[in-house]
Amino acid sequence: MSNTSYKEDLQHPVFGVVSEASAALGLESYVIGGFVRDLILGRENKKDIDIVAVGSGIALAQQVADMLPRKPKVQVFKNYGTAMLRFEDTDIEFVGARKESYQSESRNPVVENGTLEDDQDRRDFTINALALSLNRDNFGTLLDPFNGLKDLESKIIRTPLNPDITYSDDPLRMLRAIRFATQLGFDIEAESLVSISKNKERINIISGERIVDELNKILSVKKPSTGFILLYKTGLLDLILPELTALNQVEEIEGHTHKNNFYHTLEVVDNISENTEDVWLRWAALLHDIGKAPTKRFFKKQGWTFHGHEFVGGKMVKKIFERLHMPLNQKMKFVQKMVMMSSRPIVLSQEIVTDSAVRRLVFDAGEDVENLMTLCEADITTKNAIKFKKYHQNFDLVRRKIVEVEERDQVRNFQPPVTGEEIMEIFNLKPSREIGILKEAIKEAILEGEIPNEYEAAYQFMMEKAEKMGLKTM
Ligand code: ATP
Ligand code: MG
Repeated sequence: MSNTSYKEDLQHPVFGVVSEASAALGLESYVIGGFVRDLILGRENKKDIDIVAVGSGIALAQQVADMLPRKPKVQVFKNYGTAMLRFEDTDIEFVGARKESYQSESRNPVVENGTLEDDQDRRDFTINALALSLNRDNFGTLLDPFNGLKDLESKIIRTPLNPDITYSDDPLRMLRAIRFATQLGFDIEAESLVSISKNKERINIISGERIVDELNKILSVKKPSTGFILLYKTGLLDLILPELTALNQVEEIEGHTHKNNFYHTLEVVDNISENTEDVWLRWAALLHDIGKAPTKRFFKKQGWTFHGHEFVGGKMVKKIFERLHMPLNQKMKFVQKMVMMSSRPIVLSQEIVTDSAVRRLVFDAGEDVENLMTLCEADITTKNAIKFKKYHQNFDLVRRKIVEVEERDQVRNFQPPVTGEEIMEIFNLKPSREIGILKEAIKEAILEGEIPNEYEAAYQFMMEKAEKMGLKTM
């Protein structure tokens, strides 16, 4: 056990109060887990503190609240024996030290009261089992039964107990291991890595929500591919997102190969992460090519094709969101739209960029056109320097044209300059096919650049078109 003291680091006023409250109740308390780990790492403090009491965590929370200025409200979770309060901008969670034992069909253990050591035993990783005493007589002393400090220094993710038991007991820990390795830039210790591969099927007892929480954290790092490669190598990715691992193959027929779309995808995710923090846009990058596995065909003349992969991919997005219990709201629709449109600007950038093509792009993408551009730029992974430069230059041109075309025609949130009601009135029509035809013709003329997006021009255009259709005004 280490004698190192971190007294100076426990400046947050709440620690002193917890110490006093513990003394008043005659129990011991410790700050444990992520806060201690990040403090020693010098990582940005996450405003999230876990306190373990040897005794009732709920009673300690109430005592602390009583002693704090303005007595914050205590939220009690009786079933879990935990309590939480918010002080200034920090969430402080209290739990009684516990001993846990697991049954095979659930990640919810049988729980009984225990010592600090029991509580540290049940922690997922040595670096998450570090505790600092909040007791008067040894305030700030590090309690580190598993050499977590050493693992922090050598950047190792290791379980306190036998990894086979740790991961099998609560398979979520497999994802947490990979997530922490990715976030912190640590290595997962070899025995642990083998154990994760061995226990991978156990991930099936974990809810989609929990899995997605971890995936989102992996996707939110600077270079998410690191995490996805670990997920892939341990076999977890195949169980969680088989649509992605299906992309990891390169076939050759008659000397024609296609690119490995799995590694391409990871490159796209890393690229986009340099330009956006939006986790949903990162999801779009992750899923943008999933339609390529089911649509892949070889033709003698064209070689490998993926016809319609965007549309198929878009449909797959919905299935994935459903399966993982992700929100089926506008976030899903956004990811789906990005996947479905993911080739549009690319086609543009390879050809001559016409105003009408840009206008159509803005019309179809609407508010999401910038995000779509960000996705498509990230999608450029060609190793051919000349092509790379050419595509980027074309995208710059597309971006400039988007601004130009928007200033002139405002098609981003297109509202027909002449409404259906007006058309009905002018030509004395009941709701009918003709109205749709006229509206569509006006829209097309605007998108093609034949007329500006203005009432006068649209009215004039409509009258001419209507005359050709044999429609009479009142
Ligand atoms: P972060 O908040 O950055 O995700 P953290 O380490 O604080 O990191 P939490 O999920 O907030 O992670 O959990 C707090 C602590 O609870 C962890 O440090 C760890 O000691 C323990 N813990 C959390 N989840 C598990 C688990 N599934 N198995 C064992 N211990 C866990
Ligand atoms: Mg935490």
